[in-house]
Amino acid sequence: MRNLLAAVAAVVSIAGLVVIGGTSTAGAAPVCAVDYKLNQWATGFTANVTVTNQSAPVTSWNLTWTFAGNQAISSGWSADVKQSGTRVTVSNLPWNGSLGTGASAQFGFQATYSGTNEVPTDFAFNGVSCSGDGPTTTTTSTTTTTTTTTTGVPPVGCGTAALCDDFEQQTGATPAGRWTVGAANCTGQGAVSIDNSVAHSGSKSVRVNGAAGYCNHIFFGTPLTGSGTVHGRFYVRHTTALPAAHVTFMAMKDTGDAGKDLRMGGQNAALQWNRESDDATLPAQSPQGVAMSKPLPTGQWNCVQFTVDPAGRLSTSLNGAAVEGLQVDGVPTPDIDQQWLNKTWRPAVTDLRLGWESYGDGADTLWYDDVAVGSSPIAC
Ligand code: CA
Repeated sequence: MRNLLAAVAAVVSIAGLVVIGGTSTAGAAPVCAVDYKLNQWATGFTANVTVTNQSAPVTSWNLTWTFAGNQAISSGWSADVKQSGTRVTVSNLPWNGSLGTGASAQFGFQATYSGTNEVPTDFAFNGVSCSGDGPTTTTTSTTTTTTTTTTGVPPVGCGTAALCDDFEQQTGATPAGRWTVGAANCTGQGAVSIDNSVAHSGSKSVRVNGAAGYCNHIFFGTPLTGSGTVHGRFYVRHTTALPAAHVTFMAMKDTGDAGKDLRMGGQNAALQWNRESDDATLPAQSPQGVAMSKPLPTGQWNCVQFTVDPAGRLSTSLNGAAVEGLQVDGVPTPDIDQQWLNKTWRPAVTDLRLGWESYGDGADTLWYDDVAVGSSPIAC
């Protein structure tokens, strides 16, 4: 019923571009220009922001503004994005702090709102207004707004998720914005691309060409913010049944486990979790354990839901049904979580990566869509 309602509701999404700053006719030019690109739906939006330093070179920067409404930022990327009340302060990360004259930095964020979503008007760069107002400065501020309106639906079932992405705003060949493509280990033949024809929602998804062999790891990933229990939900479809060999299609860096990955993937043709630090598997790879997991069906969109909590509990559902072998409840159960619980594990995951990691055999083509992570359960 919810999906039906979502399909019926015609929600207007707006992609807008506002340029603040402009040409100086007398005195100093504005110290900065800001491109603030919005993609919004009824209750939320993402903004991709480009700030250009038009003053002397800097080695660090911050950009501030005030929201006119009840916009509430839930996550940011490529900068440190902080909100206090209606006030937002964005600071550079170590790798994008140096901006020469005329150089730009890009960052983005996701937020919720209700009512109207006004573009901020009081951008300031390192404390100096971007509108160039000053006693000796006369500035002609030009504001250019280009708006395209399409009828669509918001990202599927976001609820209050801090991260919710349907990839509909991706315009390039590879995922951009909050997403980074790569792998910490060696990479080779694996590839990640935006697919404009296969989608769970809208018309776009992320396609992963996963190749066999250890040196073909490839992921697209994003940092996770916040702490406490992590609830995730994503849709995946793929072409090739999970192999007998161990493979991973989702990984999360676990700073509670020496920065090693918490992985979801497959082994013995069924879904499994794996802990990189000690190679524990969930379920145990006994025939009885494997039988309590499930294969990942091919040729259809599958909804995967998971919960990781700081006490070390883990739960997993596939297409709306809990998978018996993929639960860590704290009570050791033979063939399920007995091995997993041999070690005290207090996870603190700090990113989400989707893609393909094979340790030998196993190639697959996968598509991901409608990825959401938040602090409460997210429905299929
Ligand atoms: Ca989509």
